[in-house]
Amino acid sequence: MLLQEQNVVRRRRLVEIGQEISRLGFVKGTAGNASARASDGLLVTPSGITYADMKPNDVVHMKMDGEICYGRWMAQSHTAPSSEWHLHRALYEARPEVNAILHTHPPFSTTLAVLGKSLPAIHYLIGIVNGNEVPCAPYRTFGTKELSEAVVETMGSRRACLVDHHGLIAVASNLHDALELTIQIESLAELYWRACAIGTPTIIDDDEMERVRAKFEEINYGPK
Ligand SMILES: [Zn+2]
Repeated sequence: MLLQEQNVVRRRRLVEIGQEISRLGFVKGTAGNASARASDGLLVTPSGITYADMKPNDVVHMKMDGEICYGRWMAQSHTAPSSEWHLHRALYEARPEVNAILHTHPPFSTTLAVLGKSLPAIHYLIGIVNGNEVPCAPYRTFGTKELSEAVVETMGSRRACLVDHHGLIAVASNLHDALELTIQIESLAELYWRACAIGTPTIIDDDEMERVRAKFEEINYGPK
């Protein structure tokens, strides 16, 4: 497939993912953002447009240095990239295996983030994040280089992290898996919230989580 055609497919997919996170209640209004790696940079959802109104040509094509690629798409639309594009770029630069990033404010995950709490291994499925917890990065002002650095450092080699007083970021090899991760993490955050409401959940120890993750690898389970 030609590069131009690949980018058209990615633009359509980003709009679909935006509509999906909106439908699932993971974002309200214009909050949240999504991106996909392109051969010559990244494609990122625009700032200030609701997902219901977003069209494929509103998606912004940028080079990794932040320069906006004005092609025939941009002649039709003059959108600005999401204010979190620095975060997306920093993650693509730090993580060569990552091809898709989804940032949302889902209610249960964001409740933990508001409290500055990580999501621990209260269920074996937490292993799908390629770690034993979803850690919480420290608060930094949205859209800043400082936020990007805090997220890259806290996430490490995992596939997700929370951000204090903010929300959730999931990274994957494709947009479908980034959405799947977001859905699973939000479900586990809800489970943690429910368990804490009637008791104190115990946490699965690191040795057992290592076994779980090895088994996930063996059977090729979960988002990648
Ligand atoms: Zn946000």
